[in-house]
Amino acid sequence: MYWRVKEGHEGKFNIGDGFPTFASYGDLCVYGTPVLEYPDLVKVAFHGGDTCDPDKRKWGPGVKVDKLKEWVEERLGGMVDSSEAVVKQSCMYSMTADEDFVIDYLGGEFGKDVVVGGGFSGHGFKMAPVIGRILTQLVVDGEASGVDLKHFRIGRFNTTTSN
Ligand SMILES: Cc1cc2nc3c(=O)[nH]c(=O)nc-3n(C[C@H](O)[C@H](O)[C@H](O)COP(=O)(O)OP(=O)(O)OC[C@H]3O[C@@H](n4cnc5c(N)ncnc54)[C@H](O)[C@@H]3O)c2cc1C
Repeated sequence: MYWRVKEGHEGKFNIGDGFPTFASYGDLCVYGTPVLEYPDLVKVAFHGGDTCDPDKRKWGPGVKVDKLKEWVEERLGGMVDSSEAVVKQSCMYSMTADEDFVIDYLGGEFGKDVVVGGGFSGHGFKMAPVIGRILTQLVVDGEASGVDLKHFRIGRFNTTTSN
C-alpha cells in the first residue's frame, strides 16, 4: 500500500532526509519504507496473510485494509492521507517456520559444496547487500567474517536431530 503524503510534508518521507524503513509489531504487523519509485507517496503495508498455491493465488489488495487505514491515520494522519491507499499491490513470499532466513551450507552428501540463501519470509530485500557479501564469502572463503550464522542454520527446523 502506498499512501499520499499531504501537501507541505513531502520532504519528510524521503530516504535522503533520513526517513527510515520501519516495522511495528502489534495486533497487525505493519511495516514501511521511504519510497523512491513513487514521488510523494509513502509505503505503509501489512505483513501477513494466508498460505497459498502460487498458481491459484488471489490478486486483490489483501486483507485488513480498514485496520491499516486506522494505523496510518493514528500514526501519520497529520502528514499522510489515510482515506485510501493510492497504489495497492499484493505480494507472495516464501516463509520459513520462524519467518527468518536460511543461510547455510546444504550439508549432508553435499557438505560445503552447496550454499543456501533463501526463505527470506518477506523481509529479504532490504538485507540484500549484506546477504550478498555473506553468501560470496561462504562460497569463496569457506566462512563469513564478522557474523554469527548459527541463528540461520538450515537444520533448525529438523526436530529429529540436534543440528
Ligand atoms: C511484492 C513484494 C514486496 C516486497 N517488499 C519487501 C520489502 O518492502 N522489504 C523487504 O525487505 N523485502 C520485501 N520483499 C521480499 C523480498 O523481495 C524477498 O525476501 C527477496 O527478494 C528474496 O530474495 P531471493 O534472492 O531469495 O529470491 P528472489 O529475489 O525471488 O530471486 C530469485 C531469482 O532466481 C531466479 N530464478 C528462479 N528460478 C530459476 C531457475 N530455475 N534458473 C535460474 N534462475 C532462476 C529468479 O528469476 C530470481 O531472479 C517483498 C517481496 C515481494 C514479492
